[in-house]
Amino acid sequence: MSKIIYLDNNATSAVAPEVVDAMTPFLRDLYGNPSSIHTFGGQVARHVEQARESLAALLGADPTEIIFTSCGTESDSTAIRSALACYPDRRHVVTTRVEHPAVRNLCQWLGQPVPGRAPYRVTELPVDSQGMLGLDEFKAALDDDTAIVSVMWANNETGVLFPVDEIGALCRERGLLFHTDAVQAVGKVPINLAKQPVDMLALSGHKLHAPKGVGALYVRRGTRFAPYLMGGHQENNRRGGTESVPLIVGLGKAAELALRNLKQEQTRVRALRDRLEKGLLAKAPGARLNGHPDHRLPNTTNVSFEYVEGEAILLMLDQYGICASSGSACTTGSLEPSHVLRAMGVPFTAAHGSVRFSLSVYNTPEEIETVLEVLPPIIRRLREISPFGREQLAAAK
Ligand code: PLP
Repeated sequence: MSKIIYLDNNATSAVAPEVVDAMTPFLRDLYGNPSSIHTFGGQVARHVEQARESLAALLGADPTEIIFTSCGTESDSTAIRSALACYPDRRHVVTTRVEHPAVRNLCQWLGQPVPGRAPYRVTELPVDSQGMLGLDEFKAALDDDTAIVSVMWANNETGVLFPVDEIGALCRERGLLFHTDAVQAVGKVPINLAKQPVDMLALSGHKLHAPKGVGALYVRRGTRFAPYLMGGHQENNRRGGTESVPLIVGLGKAAELALRNLKQEQTRVRALRDRLEKGLLAKAPGARLNGHPDHRLPNTTNVSFEYVEGEAILLMLDQYGICASSGSACTTGSLEPSHVLRAMGVPFTAAHGSVRFSLSVYNTPEEIETVLEVLPPIIRRLREISPFGREQLAAAK
């Protein structure tokens, strides 16, 4: 395949070469089961614990607070289901309208009646036009029946950051459990759970240069917990199933690299993202930014190009090997614009033309310049062939 320009890191990220190197011995020679009594297994178990320490260091957590899982979705599900199992008398779940389906679909299912279980009361909080959550509304939603509050740390589509410290503090005041889906935040913004009031936090390896198929759930010491996967005694009886040692070791190495690269995310990656964003807003007709300009992940920009289809833009970018994402879910055949942009009140014509670019430490200034050269003429061409775009162009003349 010819060289690609990969700007879709919120979808998944390249596995770091250092991660591949760290994993390889555990795929080839060190295949022992960490639970085995023999030295061969014990040797492997030590590497699992080292990975736990590396991940704990990235989060400012204690290694005993980390449970390895198979993905972000499993971590989210485990956290929410655990809270409901531990507080069976509480029937209220508080979340937002802009969560990833890993949380949103579970919460919506909880809100429906299913045989043998009454529906939970689910509050999905709105966001404003910049994708921000109102704290007064949040506070008003909490009550003594609330079993769990699940609010993401950073939105996957817009990169908007949620006020996790304030949300956690309000939950603590009321004695409520707070879970955050930090799948997009970990490795991109500083996290220090020793100081931040979070009870449970979900993360995913493949968003931070580890492979797919591994994630983790942080559970603060002292938090009531009920396992989702019951089975063996692995993960201190909190998640049954033989540990995927190569993937766990890979996640540990990725966490080490992420800690080392955190400053670079905040400076170099942010500068590349800003250059791309400013260039597009200046050069591409009908371009507008979705999401708060400042309270955002350093690597993400979501730009709408009015009167143009996001999918058409992606297909044309694809011809240049440029990978990005669009906000409409055309794979479902419905062409429904993203629930995140709809919750923000982005007009239909703009939501349909939204494109998310998400960068990583592996991107270069040359790649950004290529996108800035290629994309504005694509938008102009697509507007010319769009009936709505033509009307706009004619009106502007
Ligand atoms: N939460 C957020 C915010 C995400 O962006 C994603 C993946 O895109 C997930 C959860 C799900 O993670 P995984 O793919 O590891 O299940």
